[in-house]
Amino acid sequence: MGFATTAIHAGNEPDPTTGAVSVPIYQTSTYAQEGLGKPRGGFEYARTQNPTRLAVERNVAALEGARFGFAFASGMSAIDAVLRLVKAGDHVVVSDNTYGGTYRLFSRILSNYGIEFSFVDTSDSGEVERALKENTRMVYVETPTNPVMTVTDLTAVSELARARGVRVVCDNTFMSPYLQRPIELGADIVLHSATKYLNGHSDSVGGVVVLNDEQDAEWLKFVQNSVGAILSPFDSWLTLRGTKTLALRMEQHDKSGRAVAAFLEEHPKVEKLYYPGSLSHKQHELAKRQQRGFGGMVSFDVGSLENARAVLEGCRLLTLAESLGAVESLISHPATMTHASVLPATRQRLGITDGLVRVSVGLEDTDDIIADLDQALGKIK
Ligand SMILES: *Cc1c(COP(=O)(O)O)cnc(C)c1O
Repeated sequence: MGFATTAIHAGNEPDPTTGAVSVPIYQTSTYAQEGLGKPRGGFEYARTQNPTRLAVERNVAALEGARFGFAFASGMSAIDAVLRLVKAGDHVVVSDNTYGGTYRLFSRILSNYGIEFSFVDTSDSGEVERALKENTRMVYVETPTNPVMTVTDLTAVSELARARGVRVVCDNTFMSPYLQRPIELGADIVLHSATKYLNGHSDSVGGVVVLNDEQDAEWLKFVQNSVGAILSPFDSWLTLRGTKTLALRMEQHDKSGRAVAAFLEEHPKVEKLYYPGSLSHKQHELAKRQQRGFGGMVSFDVGSLENARAVLEGCRLLTLAESLGAVESLISHPATMTHASVLPATRQRLGITDGLVRVSVGLEDTDDIIADLDQALGKIK
């Protein structure tokens, strides 16, 4: 079956008791048992199992081509659960330019528990290889990276890791399974901030992890139940509703993303464009090969904080806000917003300058998005 069909039907079987076509929001904390030790249909307590959550877990697993899925209260709690596959004394290689919250979780919290992290430029497979150690148990990759859109060769990194029995985890939030399927490229575990493209409507926070390995899936299920950072029934339902239109939405994000990037690339006030769809992007060929499109994320540098402020505050249609991947176009300033927790020297090295602006191209009419950016760029002195 094709992607759009899977998106609409996987996990979305009509409700067994009523035939309801939309999976009901099972707003319950517990389930009546038929007798001592005899739960009905495997449901006992809602932290452990909930039919609405189960539906979204099956849905996203199918979209990524994976066997197992687990939904969490946020992208961060999904990432935290995945990191519980490693323990004190283990070493993890991480993309040096991840989502700011991921960097914060790894460097400020998990490092206190004896887990060792090496932040490297995973877009250079040689650097990944050099960073692997005797005790490396995981390579954690974000591609394209947020916000400077560096692309990692998932096939190459997965081959390197597999040869040493090391798991590869990919944060696929920026692409969504419609544009990139990391498991097919060799990754072991894929995770999402469902808050972004999967839900797509700026009305829910959530996270999903999918994978094929049975043993790791058992452990994640155990962690999900033991820690309890579960996706609520209502948020599960909202995410399910979101993924039904994922194919259509991603087509349009991709289409408008290309047009916005082309406009920005030609604009005299734009000093540098960060967009893998551009011929000038140094990994354009790789992005073309491993992605089905380039998505709606476009970053650009206007040279200074003053210029960035003029654009960010000059927009009328694009909303100045954190987050991405929704119907509304959003504009943000990584250095002071999403990446404020990254050390200033590291930000400079990664290209997260004070002049860097990130746009999440939404689903408004493309011409309106471009016209708004045009007038906002016109506010630069
Ligand atoms: C937003 C985001 C996260 C964190 O997800 P939350 O749902 O905000 O907890 C992780 N990775 C990426 C790439 C993100 O954009």
